[in-house]
Amino acid sequence: MTAERIDGKAFAAGLRERVGEFAVSFEQAAGRKAGLAVVLVGEDPASQVYVRSKGKACLAANMASFEHKLGDDTSREELLGVIDKLNADDAVDGILVQLPLPDHLDEQEVIARISPDKDVDGFHVINAGRLSVGQSGFVPCTPLGCMMLLADRLGDLSGLEAVVIGRSNIVGKPMAQLLLDANATVTIAHSRTKDLKSVVKRADIVVAAVGRPEMVGKDWLKDGATVIDVGINRLPPEEGKEKGKLVGDVDYGEASEVAAAITPVPGGVGPMTIAVLLRNTMVAAHRNAGVALEEGAL
Ligand code: NDP
Repeated sequence: MTAERIDGKAFAAGLRERVGEFAVSFEQAAGRKAGLAVVLVGEDPASQVYVRSKGKACLAANMASFEHKLGDDTSREELLGVIDKLNADDAVDGILVQLPLPDHLDEQEVIARISPDKDVDGFHVINAGRLSVGQSGFVPCTPLGCMMLLADRLGDLSGLEAVVIGRSNIVGKPMAQLLLDANATVTIAHSRTKDLKSVVKRADIVVAAVGRPEMVGKDWLKDGATVIDVGINRLPPEEGKEKGKLVGDVDYGEASEVAAAITPVPGGVGPMTIAVLLRNTMVAAHRNAGVALEEGAL
């Protein structure tokens, strides 16, 4: 079997375009653009790249982007003050604080300060709680993007065996909850799981969110499984090259021989994350401005 490549890049482009269309009708109805504020503390180069690309994606989707770049030495009070201002600003529908924060700042405290109604990353405990009891709130972008790809590919997930490898608050746990809500039979595996390979082997759906390059090989997978590879790992550079290759947590070449479908890295889950961030911001904008948005329209 040669697995079908699940083209997250193309799916994400379609979602971004749809968000852009909703952004135009939103602006007509609300008399203002939907807006996303991104707060970056410090000089981390990878974070700077993410923040730039989020800003660009907002503008391309007819949305307003507000960037707040703060120095490495920003105090707790200053940062919380910026968040308070953004919470109170009617032009801002979504607030994202780029993680990781410098060590002297407490991430949980900072996330807890964001209004749950503007928490488009879905990291606030109120939104995590809403997800776990089935209330509508904001769902973290990466797992929601994975679900969109799965629903597009498989339709109804009822009764399917799903194994999520990884139990982080931002990927593994919300992913498992979403799969459960879709009536899959869900196992969450982690670093203490015994005989991980045989646990993964029974899955119709495998979501790998570990951070270990090419850990999942072909003998881990059931024939015909659908594989969502969330991992982003940079290998050491080959000789003469400046940067190493980006790979996922799944060995793409090997898995392709057994799986029915698989997301590549790059070009799979990664592009979905920003597209869903725009989608969540658009949903927030409609709620905040009291403009109707049909359930499931985005
Ligand atoms: P975390 O480091 O927070 O969590 C990793 C999880 O993997 C933990 O639950 C850990 O288990 C588990 N784990 C580690 N080693 C093993 C092992 N040998 N066997 C089984 N489980 C193991 O990572 P994140 O959830 O934040 O991210 C996971 C990956 O996804 C990373 O590569 C990250 O870069 C990528 N990512 C990609 C995104 C995208 O947009 N595509 C967005 C977010 C993340 P335990 O809890 O027991 O320690």
